[in-house]
Amino acid sequence: MKSNLGCGCLNYTQAYSDNQLVELVTEEIIDYLQLNLSLEPTSYSDSLYPKIPLGVSNRHIHLTKKTFQVLFGDKAEFEVMRPLYQPGEFASKHTLTIVGPKLRSIFGVRILGPLRKYDQVEVSLTDSIFLGVNPPVTNSGALDNAVALTLVGPNGSVYIEKCAIIANRHIHMTDKDAEKFSVKEGDFCKVRLAGEKSTIFENVLIRINDTWKLQIHLDTDDANAANVREDTFVEFIGKM
Ligand SMILES: [Zn+2]
Repeated sequence: MKSNLGCGCLNYTQAYSDNQLVELVTEEIIDYLQLNLSLEPTSYSDSLYPKIPLGVSNRHIHLTKKTFQVLFGDKAEFEVMRPLYQPGEFASKHTLTIVGPKLRSIFGVRILGPLRKYDQVEVSLTDSIFLGVNPPVTNSGALDNAVALTLVGPNGSVYIEKCAIIANRHIHMTDKDAEKFSVKEGDFCKVRLAGEKSTIFENVLIRINDTWKLQIHLDTDDANAANVREDTFVEFIGKM
């Protein structure tokens, strides 16, 4: 017989033999250790959570064909420099200078391909403070509240009223992955980055497309906060 005293301790009556008591106490200790292990993995290697490869997104640009031609010339070819982890996506050979309202600029901002139906500049909060702009944290392509920047290329410049955003934390996955993680498109979840500056990130958006490979995208501010580079994983804790 045992009764819970309401303080997490257990009271064993004298009805038990010494051996039975040892067995009971051992069981309680194992339960306690297992509970704590599942709540708080102590290091990455003994994590009980599923792992997702990390991709760190530095500031970058997506352009329409029309804007590309204004900036690089009518005859310029949009050229691949190297493929990215997500199938079909690539870093192009082309970079631009982005300029904010205080005339501060960041040069060498890479254009990613393929060309899109909209112009978008994804920056970090650190970049935004430097440039003097206040972009919203939003999904890629949701530009209603995006802010203005001027893009400067070798052939011209354009002022784009709604282009700059801070991209949402997000996870790319297929339908099959979504099933495995028990999530659906648009869900928000929680992940953990282990290490010396281990950090839990919340509000991570789930994005599903069967052409994608499983990968989480964090911007440089998030990755720097957790003191990690690309070659690591996050632990998927669960839905918010
Ligand atoms: Zn992404």
